[in-house]
Amino acid sequence: MMARRAANDELAELVQGEQTDAVRVLEDRIAVRAVGTLDDRFTILSQRSLTAWVTAFGGVAAEASDPGALRRILASIRAAIRRLLTPLGRRAEQVLTEALAEAVMLGAQQHAAFVSEATGRRNRPVTSRVSGALRARAAAITQAVTDRRDRALAALRPNRTRRWSEVQTGIGVARSAIPAVRTHITTTVNEAVNEAAETAIKHAGEKKVWIAERDACVNCAAYAGLTVAAEAKFPAGLSWDPNQRGRGEALAAPPKHPSCRCRVTAWQDAWKQDGVISFPDSLRREARRSIARGWSLPTESGAARIRAARELLRTGAGLPKSVEEFAAQAVRAGRFADRTFPTGP
Ligand SMILES: [Zn+2]
Repeated sequence: MMARRAANDELAELVQGEQTDAVRVLEDRIAVRAVGTLDDRFTILSQRSLTAWVTAFGGVAAEASDPGALRRILASIRAAIRRLLTPLGRRAEQVLTEALAEAVMLGAQQHAAFVSEATGRRNRPVTSRVSGALRARAAAITQAVTDRRDRALAALRPNRTRRWSEVQTGIGVARSAIPAVRTHITTTVNEAVNEAAETAIKHAGEKKVWIAERDACVNCAAYAGLTVAAEAKFPAGLSWDPNQRGRGEALAAPPKHPSCRCRVTAWQDAWKQDGVISFPDSLRREARRSIARGWSLPTESGAARIRAARELLRTGAGLPKSVEEFAAQAVRAGRFADRTFPTGP
């Protein structure tokens, strides 16, 4: 049965919207199981430690005057950190490892859905096993927790910590294991999803195309719409920001960096529809628009976005005049006023 083939913007919306959202839901489910109530328990630990500190030393500005009291307070914080973080690593590794098969299956199903939409022909998911590389990746989450726990335990000793601000820093290092676990889960799940896509792409002997996130960083945006052979790697070191070029290595597929939710899917030149630009070309165009508009996460450097916009204008953006003028104004001002990707109507 030949169905209607999806338009370029529908294909992009399918992957960047619906499918990425479904992957996020899976990431969140894993993270909730891995982290549990740990955020709250760290808040309680901070509050209790503060109370103990003020009781012992009279205030937060004072240096610890009583060595015995300092030793006791720090020992009790270290014990709490061990209690909170030692099970976290094991639990995170277990729930992430258990979820890998589901992530791979989701990737296979989503890839098949993309090919069905692109070709108008029903495409069946290509099932694959969880690779050894993915398992190793999931197992490495324990080390991410252990590193932070041990750094915190080493810092929270009387020879290194005599002020409340230093106690706070030490607890903060321990607590940073939670976002580290979340990031590790996101990256691993996206690796699994892309690995499943790669298996399907190789199976069909198709080319592959990089689909960047809508608010991708200046590096990932340089890969948007790039196509290479199924077995080939995407070239190393591309970036819209001249200062960041030449870094990193050639990759078979995203993720390119921690928390990257870029995707790889199959592409064939024969899938291009008459009278419109190809899907990969439309992705490149959208990436140029995103550089011109400054759409990005708040965590990305504003200076990098401006350098990227300047580079885009220098090399010829090929965008509507109003969009190019918007970018030129931002470059002159040295900043984008609002970098949030517009959602909703
Ligand atoms: Zn990316």
